[in-house]
Amino acid sequence: MTIPDNHPRAESLRIRERIIKGMHEKVVAEAGLIAHGRGEAYDYLLGEKTPDCAKKQQEIAIAMLLTSKNPVISVNGNIAALCPEEIVQFAENTEASLEINLFYRSEERVKAITSVLEEAGATTILGVDPKYHETLEELSHLRRIVDVRGIYAADVVLVPLEDGDRTMALRRAGKKVITIDLNPLSRTSLWANVTIVNNVIRAIPEMIEESFKLKEKSSDELKELINDFDNYQSLQETLNFMSSRLRELAEGKLEDPTKNL
Ligand code: ATP
Repeated sequence: MTIPDNHPRAESLRIRERIIKGMHEKVVAEAGLIAHGRGEAYDYLLGEKTPDCAKKQQEIAIAMLLTSKNPVISVNGNIAALCPEEIVQFAENTEASLEINLFYRSEERVKAITSVLEEAGATTILGVDPKYHETLEELSHLRRIVDVRGIYAADVVLVPLEDGDRTMALRRAGKKVITIDLNPLSRTSLWANVTIVNNVIRAIPEMIEESFKLKEKSSDELKELINDFDNYQSLQETLNFMSSRLRELAEGKLEDPTKNL
C-alpha cells in the first residue's frame, strides 16, 4: 500500500506496513501484530517522542552492555522487521552477540529472520544451529531453547519487546535483563533490571549515537552510572511523565482539531 506523505499519521502507517510485510514474509508472528498495536497505544501516552526519562534509561542500558563480559542481544520477529540494520549496528558498537530467540519458534521463521539479519550486515547469528541449543529451565518446550554460546552463557541480555515469562526465567537464571518496552506496566518492564520505556524505532538509533559517547568513559565511570540507577524509581518517573502529560491535556492543553472547520 502506498501511504501519501501528507497523511497525518504517515510515519506510523509506514512502520505498520513494515510489520505487516514482515508477517507475510514469515518474519513476524501473527501475535507480533497485536504486540505492535499495544505498543502504539502506549506510544500515544509518550507523545510519540523520547522523554528525558527514557534517555536516562537508554544511557544506563548502554553502560551495562559496555561493562558486561558476555552481552547478548535477543532478536525476535518484530525487531527484525522494524530495525534490522540498527540492531546489527548497535550489537557491533557494544560488542554484543546477536541471538535469534523466538516465542513462536519455527524453522521457517528462524530462516526468514536469519536472512533479514544477514542482509542487514550480521556475520554471526546465534540461536540458529541446533548443535548449540541448550534449554533454559522454568520454560516450556520450544520457548526454552537458547544458544549455549549466547543467552545461556550471557551475563547481560537485551530483550527488546519480550514476554514476561521469559524475562522472569532469565532473571531466575541469574542474568541481568535490559528491555525496551513501551508498556511500563508489563511483567517484562517490572522484572527487568533496566527498562527502557520507548519505541524501539527511536530507542535503537538513539542508543547507537549515545554508545559512541559512552565508549569514551572509563569502566569505573560506567559502573557508577549503573550503581546509581533504580529500575523501580525509573519506572515511576516514566509513569509520572505519562500521567502529567495526560493531566496537562485534560486541563486545557488538548487542541480541538475541528475548531477551524
Ligand atoms: P508481559 O508478558 O511482559 O506482561 P505482554 O503480554 O504485553 O507483556 P507481549 O505481548 O509479548 O507481552 O508484548 C510485547 C511488549 O512489547 C508489549 O508490552 C508492547 O507494549 C511492547 N511493544 C510493542 N511494540 C513496541 C515497539 N515498537 N517498541 C517498544 N515496545 C513495543
